[in-house]
Amino acid sequence: MTAQAADPTVFERIAAREIPATIVAETERVIAFRDIAPQAPVHVVVTPKQGRYRDVVELAAGDPGLLAELVEVARGVADELADGQFRLIFNTGAGAGQTVFHVHAHVLAGGLEERTLA
Ligand code: 5GP
Repeated sequence: MTAQAADPTVFERIAAREIPATIVAETERVIAFRDIAPQAPVHVVVTPKQGRYRDVVELAAGDPGLLAELVEVARGVADELADGQFRLIFNTGAGAGQTVFHVHAHVLAGGLEERTLA
């Protein structure tokens, strides 16, 4: 689903500073903030500030440049907060655990020997 009139998701509201979050990185189109319920020592959500792409499949088809920017922000977060090694998870669909239907990546780093999934 691309841009259309709909209530903003919690992540768009964080990007608009309507909901507080611990923001760790930001570009013109992408924002990264600490997950409210971390599943690893470093657990950061990276998401476009706008644009109603529900998941990574829609984003890849609709705006691959934005997807590349999102991955680059994730890499920068991992460089800054971890040792540059990280897991990048896109839950895609409710059956796969997606709860916020505004495309986002989970950056997980540290303590991953337990192989905890987001
Ligand atoms: P999903 O399950 O959709 O892949 O991931 C959604 C993530 O957003 C979850 O890990 C959840 O903890 C996080 N989350 C949900 N609401 C908020 C919020 O208001 N603030 C922050 N920082 N994270 C949130």
